Amino acid sequence: MRRLDWLIRGGTVVTATGFRPADVAVAEGRVLALGEGLSMPAREVLDVDGAYVFPGFIDAHIHPVYVDDMGDSSLCAAHGGVTTVMHFVPVEPGESLPQVLRSFVDKGTEASVLDFALHGALFDPASQAEDIPAAVGQGVTSFKLFLSYAKLNRMTDDYQLMRTLDIIASAGGMAMVHAENGLAMEYLESKFRDEGRDPAATFEATRPGILEAEAMNRAAAMAQVAGCPLYLPHVSSHEGAAAVRRLRRTGHRLYAEACPHHLTLTQQAVLDLGAPAKIGPPLRNDRDRLALWRALGAGELDVIASDHAPKDKSPGDDFSEAAYGAAQTETMPVLIYDGGVATGWLTLPRMAQLMSENQARIFGIYPQKGTLEVGSDADLVVWDPAAQWTITHGTQHSNAPYTLYEGRHVLGRPVLVMQRGETVVREGELVGRTGQGRFLATKAGKVELAELQPKGGTWPQNWKG
Ligand SMILES: [Zn+2]
Repeated sequence: MRRLDWLIRGGTVVTATGFRPADVAVAEGRVLALGEGLSMPAREVLDVDGAYVFPGFIDAHIHPVYVDDMGDSSLCAAHGGVTTVMHFVPVEPGESLPQVLRSFVDKGTEASVLDFALHGALFDPASQAEDIPAAVGQGVTSFKLFLSYAKLNRMTDDYQLMRTLDIIASAGGMAMVHAENGLAMEYLESKFRDEGRDPAATFEATRPGILEAEAMNRAAAMAQVAGCPLYLPHVSSHEGAAAVRRLRRTGHRLYAEACPHHLTLTQQAVLDLGAPAKIGPPLRNDRDRLALWRALGAGELDVIASDHAPKDKSPGDDFSEAAYGAAQTETMPVLIYDGGVATGWLTLPRMAQLMSENQARIFGIYPQKGTLEVGSDADLVVWDPAAQWTITHGTQHSNAPYTLYEGRHVLGRPVLVMQRGETVVREGELVGRTGQGRFLATKAGKVELAELQPKGGTWPQNWKG
């Protein structure tokens, strides 16, 4: 009989289609067999005694260019239960897209603990869009454009947006659009500043949800004209979620993502913490937060990803000058389990779908990633559903000097994180090594929306939005 690398016994295997008691047999980096009562000789046998065994989580939204680089952010992600990361590669004006992508493939191959894919973030599509077909040839098929951040010189005008969507569509790729109306927000910011109002207290009011919905409508309209699949990252408001629901009725391939901070924090965090909680789109209110949970459960949003963008900020910093973003990838899985599954917003299979399968399908790496089936990569996380603990900065691995979740009591914890049959993190200790991650070429934007819908049981109707 074939000798296994691992036999994981006695777990409850959770995938998008359901959950069942099953042992997992792993050989040569893949799932060799799944079923009850497997008895095969193995190098290592692990009895997990009813713990959940999820397909490794996929974090499709990481920015590895601040205080955590590609190596650091993969390490943070792994500690939370993530086994595949997708990084945004910023391409500054004057830089060549294919060249910058090559350098990030090299950096990731050297430093990443986890398998990784890349998205291009185009800050100057006027000069960079013609390189999109070359990038697709390099295995990078998703490209982010910004309708916000006019002052930071990242905003794309409608002419370049239409042109770039057209080029992405012809190249067979997928667009990702940061959808907030940049110029309208900048006017509101100046107005409130001139009136002497507190920038932290008025932060959300300078970027209201309806300006998110406006930008989504505009991006989706042009994407439809171009025939370009569109992915909307970080949907943050009830108006935004409603726009996605309405726009998807056209049948156009419009995928949408929610982030853990918009699900678990409100603008109270901005009032309490100041600069560290400055994030774009902003933290909002319970109405928005609950609308996002409901939409995730109902199949109206497809992906949960972290928008990990850790910065060196502290509560005393000048809010108006502070950078956007926070450390998110390590806390994401537990916040989603604790805030989504344990509260009834999400079923366990829906969590597996929103945290793993849907990303794999949207970015075209399914079923190698995103599920536990015979032949899939043995990327998995053994999850103790009963562990209770408290998030503090000391429990975290980011180089950011704070966590927005300090003191939060949570339920659930990864016990073992495995990638291609190799242990990456066990009982909180890093076992994996730098450079064991491999670059994954993507084929983004091919999956139909129907494939992303909830499959594993019904959604608990505990909130009438
Ligand atoms: Zn963004």
